[in-house]
Amino acid sequence: KKLKLQTEKVIRRDVKLLSFLQENYLSIPAIKEFLLERFQLKKYAKKAKDLINADLKLTLLQNWSGVIVGLITFTALLIILWYGSISVIEGMMTVGSLIALYTYLGKLFGPISAIGSINTAIQQTLVGVDRVFSYLDAKSTMMDVPHAKELKKMKGAVSFNNLSFTYDHTPILRNVSFTIAPGEKIALVGISGAGKSTIAKLIARWYDPQKGGIFIDDHNIQNIKLNSLRKYIGFISQDPIIFDASIKENIKMANHNASNKQVVHAAKNAYLHDFILSLPNQYHTKVGERGIKLSGGQKQRIAIARAFLKNPKIIIFDEATSSLDNESEKHIHAATQELFKNRTTIIIAHRLSTIRQCPRVIFLDKHKVAGAGSFEELMKRNASFARLYKQELLDNQKV
Ligand code: ADP
Repeated sequence: KKLKLQTEKVIRRDVKLLSFLQENYLSIPAIKEFLLERFQLKKYAKKAKDLINADLKLTLLQNWSGVIVGLITFTALLIILWYGSISVIEGMMTVGSLIALYTYLGKLFGPISAIGSINTAIQQTLVGVDRVFSYLDAKSTMMDVPHAKELKKMKGAVSFNNLSFTYDHTPILRNVSFTIAPGEKIALVGISGAGKSTIAKLIARWYDPQKGGIFIDDHNIQNIKLNSLRKYIGFISQDPIIFDASIKENIKMANHNASNKQVVHAAKNAYLHDFILSLPNQYHTKVGERGIKLSGGQKQRIAIARAFLKNPKIIIFDEATSSLDNESEKHIHAATQELFKNRTTIIIAHRLSTIRQCPRVIFLDKHKVAGAGSFEELMKRNASFARLYKQELLDNQKV
């Protein structure tokens, strides 16, 4: 039991050390920026020391179990020799029988102590097996309900119906209701942490609300098959996930069956084609882990190309907060104008220019929808909204 517990401890510390290393490799630029090399090294040394100590203790325990098995067999042989000698002296046993018995028992104890060490190995393996099965048996938190519907087509009407949501216990959204018509373009605005990304995740059903529901074309999304729901939703995040593969493979993630022609077409629509042609291996150029060889704007344009290839009915576009270079900005603007045509579009908007261009703005404040309307209407009617954008508007007018 002790061996098993100690093995668990070693594995836990090993995992901690490995995830610490992985996180640090991915954060090298931040570590350099904040001069954290020594600080992180100290943390690493502490975790490595914890692992070494636990491992040493495990080795000690393993050796102790060997010593104990050895001690038991040795004592047993001593007792047999002692009892056997008395029997020989008393004439109840011949010397030959005693020596034969002693030799046979000696042969038996070898395998018995081997069983002891096999048990040690089995106990340790069981800990690993337990961990593997805890992953394999883990249930997805989002499952299809038993008679979930397959959506054959979607118009793209989205409606939030008195929805409340919390991740743990802090309310994030409270009694949120709004409706977006098929093909309508809205801007979702609110201060950072207001719940804009949460709304996007709820639409793609990454989480279920605790109260109320989301309806797409009058179907509660909890009754739609997850795959058929997500097929119709395209999400362009600020920092899209890029895999360590070629640009072509990265774009094709949106549709594995797409032909080369379709990939090139999507890249052209995303204003990415000319950039790709300037690369040494063009569409076959590897982009590095997490797309390290690409700029923020180029990564977002890969996400836009994916969206063209996926051809969803609902687009959620998380606009970049930090400004991109002029060229990227222009390309993204042009590409998205084309992408948004005839699709329900929700823009998580950060820029004044984007918010002003959207016919309807939904303003989130204090966990609720605090107002909806055009930018001008909200500036007039909603004091919190006006406070948020007044200064920026004045600065813009001065420019
Ligand atoms: P926004 O996109 O408007 O900046 P988010 O929807 O990302 O806001 O976050 C809303 C709130 O929910 C924040 O307070 C944030 O800390 C919290 N939050 C976001 N994601 C999670 C999560 N996975 N677990 C717990 N809290 C979260």
